[in-house]
This record gives sequence, C-alpha cells and structure tokens, in this order.
Amino acid sequence: MFAQSVFRTRCACWLSVIGILLLLVGCAEEPSTLERVQSEGTLRVITRNSPATYFQDRNGETGFEYELVNRFADDLGVELQIETADNLDELFASLSKPNGPHLAAAGLVESDGRLPYARFSAPYLQVTPQVIYRNGQQRPTRPEDLIGKRLLVLKGSSHAEQLATLKLQLPELAYEESSAVEVVDLLRMVDEGQIDLTLIDSNELAMNQVYFPNVRVAFDFGDAQNLAWATAPGEDLSLLNEMDAFIQRAQTNGSLQRLKDRYYGHVDVLGYVGAYTFAKHLQQRLPRYEKHFRESAQTHQVDWRLLAAIGYQESLWQPTATSKTGVRGLMMLTLRTAQAMGVSDRLNPKQSIEGGAKYIVHVKKQLPESIQEPDRTWFALAAYNVGGGHLEDARKLTEAEGLDPNKWLDVQKILPRLAQKQWYSKTRYGYARGGEPVHFVRNIRRYYDILTWVTQPQLEGSQIADSNLHVPGVNKTPPPEELSPL
Ligand code: GLU
Repeated sequence: MFAQSVFRTRCACWLSVIGILLLLVGCAEEPSTLERVQSEGTLRVITRNSPATYFQDRNGETGFEYELVNRFADDLGVELQIETADNLDELFASLSKPNGPHLAAAGLVESDGRLPYARFSAPYLQVTPQVIYRNGQQRPTRPEDLIGKRLLVLKGSSHAEQLATLKLQLPELAYEESSAVEVVDLLRMVDEGQIDLTLIDSNELAMNQVYFPNVRVAFDFGDAQNLAWATAPGEDLSLLNEMDAFIQRAQTNGSLQRLKDRYYGHVDVLGYVGAYTFAKHLQQRLPRYEKHFRESAQTHQVDWRLLAAIGYQESLWQPTATSKTGVRGLMMLTLRTAQAMGVSDRLNPKQSIEGGAKYIVHVKKQLPESIQEPDRTWFALAAYNVGGGHLEDARKLTEAEGLDPNKWLDVQKILPRLAQKQWYSKTRYGYARGGEPVHFVRNIRRYYDILTWVTQPQLEGSQIADSNLHVPGVNKTPPPEELSPL
C-alpha cells in the first residue's frame, strides 16, 4: 500500500517534470528565417531563367537578379544557391512551402494580387508594362485596341492580373496565359507573327529588343511599377528587413546604379535599325571570321566575343574597311600600331584580328593597377580608342571633380570634356574627341552582351538558337580557357 502510494507520487512528480520540460521546449523560440539562413550558411533563392534575371554564360552564372542577390549573400556572409522555377505560379508556390527557398529574385512586380502569396522588399527597379506589337501591323494605341487580337501573356504574371482587371471594364477582351513560355518566347512569337500582341515589362524589352528586330512598343499599359524581391508571407520579417537594408545600401553606395548601367544602361544604344543590322551581320559575316577571333583569343588569353565585338564596332566585320585618316582593316589599325604589332598586311582579316588582339592586351597592361575588373576592360577599350594619354587626362579631371578615377561610370561622364577648351587647356595631352571613346565602349559592351547571350551553351537547340538570329557555327562547345573578357 505504502509502496504503491510512493510509486504514484514519484510518477506524478516525473510526469510534472516531463510536462514542464515539454512546455519549455514548446515555448522555445523557433529560429527566425535570418537565423536559419545563417545557420545553414546558404541563401536559397528562386528565380526565372531569362536574360533579364538569371542565365548561364560560358563564364558561369550571370544576369541582373543573380548579380544583385549574389552581393546580398556576400553581405550576409553565406553561400548563394539558385534554383529556377518553370513558371511564375510554381515560383510563388515554392516560396510558401515549409522548406522552400528563402526568397525570390525574379524581376517580380510588386502587385496587390500577390500579397496573399508573398511579402515584397524595398523596390530596386522601376519598370513600365508595355504592349508589344509587330512592326508593319496596325499599331494599337489604347486598351480598347486589344479587343479582337491574339494576345498572350505569362501565366500568373502581373500582366495577367492587369488584363483580368481590364476585362471587368471591357468584357469583350480576350487573352491567353501560358505557363509554358518565357518573355523571350512571347517576343519571338510577336516577331514571327504567331501572336499579335503581348504585354511585358520595359526592362524585359530593353534586354531583348536586339534579338527581335521587328517588335515595337504599341503603348505603355498603365503607370510605372516597382520590381522587388519577395519572401514567403507571414510574420517573420527578419530576412526581409535585411533585404531592405541591403537594397538601401546598394542604392546609396552606387552599386545598384552600376549594375543597372551594366545590364540596362546601354540597351538603347543600337536602336531598331542597328539591332536589325547586327542580327543580319551576325548570321552573314561573323561565321567567316569566327575562327580567327577564337584563335587569337586563345593565343592572347582573352574572350573571343570581346574581340569580335571590337571588330564589329571598328569595321562591321569588313576586312577592307578604310577610314579617311588612313586606319584600315577589320580591326581598323593605324599603320604605326600595325607595324608595332607585326602586321604586314592590314587588309588580311586574320592578321588584322591578331594585331588587334595583341594591341588591346598591350594597352590593358599599361593601365594603372588601381583600376580593377570589370572596369579595367572598359578602360582598356577606351584607351584603345582615344589613347592612354588622353584617358589619363580624363582620369585626372575626374578625380578633381571628386569622382572616382578608377570607375568607368565616373570617367565616362568626364571624357567628353576633353573636346572643350575650357577643360582640355588644363590637361597634359590637350584636345581629344572625348565623346568618341564613350560611344565606342558603350557599343562594344552591347555587342559583347549580345554575343555572350547568343553563344551561351544552354541556348543550343532552344527556340532562340533555332530562330533567325541563330549564328551558324557560333554555338559550339567552348574551349575551356575562355575565362576573363580580356
Ligand atoms: N515582371 C513580370 C511579373 O512580375 C514578369 C516578367 C514579364 O512578364 O515581363 O509578373
């Protein structure tokens, strides 16, 4: 009897201890999202595979979203792990899964319809939704003009949401949504006349215009909107607050602007005519010289696409090009440069390309150590065009203005001053057509971007590669040594 009651008391005692322990465990704080990211040591990000967000080129992963979110991971001191969603519905669905990605960085418009599925960060880019039509067709100018047209948008996109709202006012409006396509496909379909219209964001058009020379903006579909990163909806704001602080810092320290400049700053450079011409020359002329570009690139350890981009800027890939000032050949070498680089016949394309490659590497070596990549490549191009002395003058003026002489973004603002007496009279090398290297670099960067995109391995056999912009012979397996642009 006694033993039994002691046993019962002990049991009750243990049970209460266990109860208290369970209670304590239950009350222990769940780690916040930020703490989980830090303890995992990895930031898991979901995105879309597209030129404006994330793609692989021969140097590895790239794209505006990728670059920005990579910096965020660096700031947090963790690894970045990217996954891609097949479509927007899938992207938002995985964001809400218990062990889903920590955030989505996918060129997403912050829209009311998405608030149940996501929480948005501070904005990092403003875009305008635009109706796109094919050149030569009648141009729609207002929402009513969409009626009766074959209109296709991305399923689950902000544009599908906008169209659903418009349909409430215009019940006759008909449109389709597809989760099997990306923005590049929509543009290709308009370009080829498979659909009449699409609705996409202005940044997507800016990025892709050059591959689709027939597409045009019909009209802006409403006001500018914000692109933002997204996390799962919920109370936990720990990661979101870090994202906001990072975007704020990137805005203040200029790194966001530099990224915008790199990806979008030069997208309008070519214009419609230039885009069309480049696409044509890519097919008709480049294949004749591609081998020479690749060979010289390998010899001098530079990226062949950059050499090809220089060649296009210089001569539109024409080996007999000649200027009034006596500059000649595919890489437009002066007689002096040609001789110094061992070129005996400037009109021989193989020799010209080899001389150009040798020269750009030489010019780059002369630059001050303080200029780091990727700016170093842009400075080398500027020096190739205007000469190292003038570039040095512009760097000095840049510094005197309180700007950074090692940043291309700053020096390119100042270079045009070398054509104004008020400024060049104060410099060592005097007058120069300082605006020219700015155009030169901007164009080459644009051509280089396009070449990078059309030669990326994952496009092989894809719709873009099959489209009329496919460059025969270009989409081959790359030699492994092509790593840095220069
Ligand atoms: N920004 C769009 C969205 O948030 C996706 C890309 C596009 O359709 O232009 O849905």
